[in-house]
Amino acid sequence: MRALTWHGKHDVRMDTVPDPQIVNPRDAIIEVTSTAICGSDLHLYDAVIPGLQGGDILGHEFMGRVVETGPKSTLKKGQRVVVPFTISCGSCFFCKATLFSACDNANPVETQEASELLYGHAVGGLFGYSHMTGGYPGGQAEYVRVPYSDVGPIVVPDGVPDEDVLFLSDILPTGWMAAENCDILPGDSVAVWGCGPVGLFAVQSALLMGAGRVIAIDHHPNRLALARGLGADVIDYTQTHVLEALMEMTGGMGPDAVIDAVGMESHGMAPDNLLDTAKQKVGIGADRAHALRMALMAVRKGGRVSIPGVYGGMADKFPLGALMEKGLQVRSGQTHVQRYGSRLLDMIMEGKIDTTFLISHRLSLEEAPRGYRNFADNQNEWTKVVLTP
Ligand SMILES: [Zn+2]
Ligand SMILES: [Zn+2]
Repeated sequence: MRALTWHGKHDVRMDTVPDPQIVNPRDAIIEVTSTAICGSDLHLYDAVIPGLQGGDILGHEFMGRVVETGPKSTLKKGQRVVVPFTISCGSCFFCKATLFSACDNANPVETQEASELLYGHAVGGLFGYSHMTGGYPGGQAEYVRVPYSDVGPIVVPDGVPDEDVLFLSDILPTGWMAAENCDILPGDSVAVWGCGPVGLFAVQSALLMGAGRVIAIDHHPNRLALARGLGADVIDYTQTHVLEALMEMTGGMGPDAVIDAVGMESHGMAPDNLLDTAKQKVGIGADRAHALRMALMAVRKGGRVSIPGVYGGMADKFPLGALMEKGLQVRSGQTHVQRYGSRLLDMIMEGKIDTTFLISHRLSLEEAPRGYRNFADNQNEWTKVVLTP
């Protein structure tokens, strides 16, 4: 089959690779009908996430049709499914607590060591996201093996276009959980750093959850316009002093909740970010945590901090004092996608959520390398790329 494979920094290619096979009774094989490039794929493209090997198949946002099932899969051939990017067994301590992305069984023992060393505990399994998370081949391919296919995939009725539901695989539940992690009360003010897909869906979700005012921060005019279209007030950080503006917009208090939807590759010329960038370039495993530092400084006393943005290593110059002295609550984590799938599918079917506004480019799978390059280099115009094999 054809698949998009990683070969090093800024080097992804279309390769011919062996078709996936059923290896476990609970597996299913999916023929991919739509797959997307994610902002977090760019961390792999930029080679700032450790644990990738040459030839790894990328992609963790995909859907398709079931073409083969193991004897213990509950899926049926021909069904259309959206597959969560998190792989979860459904029966361990964490899965039972609906902490699906923390599943103890999905990341095979032989690939757990690195994350145990870095984080104190082995992390769960993810599709197409390095050997730290299991080394599972991803879905930017013609076919993909889905482990624990009786737990994850969301069956989609025929007649619903792929584009309406594809983002249930990651960015929609990720934006939703980001907002949910803010414990939004009616009328709350919520500031969101980053108007990429997750930031935009967090804006949308926060408003649906009753936020009175959502303030979105970015520097790409196109992305800020999308945020404004969803009902957010916007701040262009290249034009405006963000902390001062946020104080002004919230009556001198600071936002009730803040969301860092930027993560480890923060942009901008702030001194702390330049220092982080230099460290990241020479491979000192430093996250560029500028957005998170700003969020911690901006949020009001006793406020809530939600971090859907991906971090992978260590950060310094961290405003620990602000965290403690202001009495902040922090929630984060890879998304527990399986917790949200059916609820969000219902909201899409009822017309309460539309995610198709995000898609800026539709390419064939063969054009995926061009999609990566443009998504990385022109984030203003390339807001979301959907690939069809
Ligand atoms: Zn993603
Ligand atoms: Zn589990």
